[in-house]
Amino acid sequence: MVSNATDSPPVPEIPEEIAGLRMTKQRQEIYRILIGQRDHPTANEVFMRAKDRLPNISLATVYNCLEALVQHGIIRQVNFERESSRYCPNLREHVHFHDAKTGAILDVDFKPGFELSDILDLPPGILIDDIEITLRGQFSNNQ
Ligand SMILES: [Zn+2]
Repeated sequence: MVSNATDSPPVPEIPEEIAGLRMTKQRQEIYRILIGQRDHPTANEVFMRAKDRLPNISLATVYNCLEALVQHGIIRQVNFERESSRYCPNLREHVHFHDAKTGAILDVDFKPGFELSDILDLPPGILIDDIEITLRGQFSNNQ
């Protein structure tokens, strides 16, 4: 593959189809944006980034692409209180750390072998489908 002479990071190849969803050029571009910069952007932020490569794309198209990707389980829609939805391509079970100072949102993985039932007194018979945990705080200076 011929690489650009610029110092921009390599553009990841996106397959023509993922999870049964045909990846149109626009969907590929939206997905590429999400996996390229994993900072949980809003639809509007994705739109601003997409315009570099797809100058004619509309915000409505970005919303449609994001919705199709979410519906096919390719990305996750993440909602924080009173905020626009954000989008995350990390499909592993994880929680989000929300830095109060900068607004940055980081993925935090569970330790290997961790089970929720180790720390939660779950009523019998409950099957967990999805976990949505947000940790709020800030980085301390003396790490
Ligand atoms: Zn995430």
